[in-house]
Amino acid sequence: MITELEKPNPYEIACRQFDIAADKLGLEEDLRRVLRSTKRELTVHFPVKMDNGEVKVFTGYRVHHNVARGPAKGGIRYHPDVTLDEVRALAMWMTWKCAVVRLPYGGAKGGVICDPKQMSQKELEGLTRRFTTEISILIGPDSDIPAPDVNTNSQTMAWIMDTYSMHHGYSIPSVVTGKPVNIGGSEGRSEATGRGVVYVLEAAAKELHMDLSKAKVAVQGFGNAGSVASSILHNHGARVVAVSDSRGGIYNPSGLNPNEVLEHKMVTGSVVGFRDAETITNDELLTLPCDVLIPAALENQITERNADQIRARVIVEAANGPTTPDADEILFDKGVLVIPDILANAGGVTVSYFEWVQDKQAFFWSEREINQRLKAILTSSFSEVYQLSNNQKTSMRTAAYMIAVDRVAKATKLRGIYP
Ligand code: GLU
Repeated sequence: MITELEKPNPYEIACRQFDIAADKLGLEEDLRRVLRSTKRELTVHFPVKMDNGEVKVFTGYRVHHNVARGPAKGGIRYHPDVTLDEVRALAMWMTWKCAVVRLPYGGAKGGVICDPKQMSQKELEGLTRRFTTEISILIGPDSDIPAPDVNTNSQTMAWIMDTYSMHHGYSIPSVVTGKPVNIGGSEGRSEATGRGVVYVLEAAAKELHMDLSKAKVAVQGFGNAGSVASSILHNHGARVVAVSDSRGGIYNPSGLNPNEVLEHKMVTGSVVGFRDAETITNDELLTLPCDVLIPAALENQITERNADQIRARVIVEAANGPTTPDADEILFDKGVLVIPDILANAGGVTVSYFEWVQDKQAFFWSEREINQRLKAILTSSFSEVYQLSNNQKTSMRTAAYMIAVDRVAKATKLRGIYP
């Protein structure tokens, strides 16, 4: 276990990843200074009345990293371990993510320090509505568009949309994405992150001549991204041998049925205890014998401590920031193909973009159309990154950063410095 003191700082990690790409690009110092720093950071402390009548004060953040390419975009997470540096890193990662798949957005992120698993629906609604009000000086359909992230979902987005709309006196669905379909959400948005993970994995498997229908897959994290990716891969014939959540993991070398695991989790609150499976820890899951490893939980899971024990051929980062730069080096030397978060999990924000476009036009597309467009964007982005990584003999992460940082740097230069 990593102790509190040893925990890597996500913002320092994000800056290190940026520096590697900036060096490769030969980026000038002035631009580096601009792109390394966040643009604005709002910290709010706000009261929420709990069910027992007590008033608690919560702390939350909304950070904009860069808006050179368009409005700020990024999710909001609820978690007891949220810190300002984590939200800064996540905002910076959103800037690169949107740039690597060519969405006309900048990067943002939000977070509230809370334990949603200990809160009632009423308390979560109160927290969400008050947090929305506190950050309403930043959010808006043309300035900053939130979305779901860890421990937030379409219901949370419905409350954000309603709160913001109440302040304005009419419905403004395009202020937030990841909403339920019947109030302006998009078909395919809730599956988009997991589906996108599978699209990029399919593209990678083609390059590696790997037969996915025979592949063994381990998935760390069984939230929105992990559970959807597991279930699509299972339906395609892959063998999902292990999955986990915050309480631990389960392993069955002959394969698990993720749809049944999800039912078990709905009833019991965890994947742990699922029949015919061995209980394992989250750490053990990462080093299991498998072909594909999908970290789909939190940051800093694959570090210099365990990277050399990884047995997968391909790692697809459904989570944001699961691999540290030290681990990246070890994995690159071992020949493990790491499909970086800013590409691998970009399916979510891509369909968020489709949702925003549909809301703005009040004209909605079919799920088939959504998935086709998503696949086209992710497949072409994958090949751009893959080719550059081969040409430059670098990791896919560095290649993805080079493409993204270059696009944001060009936009910044073209716009110039105001005033
Ligand atoms: N939270 C997701 C991410 O990290 C989605 C962001 C969005 O849709 O704006 O990419």
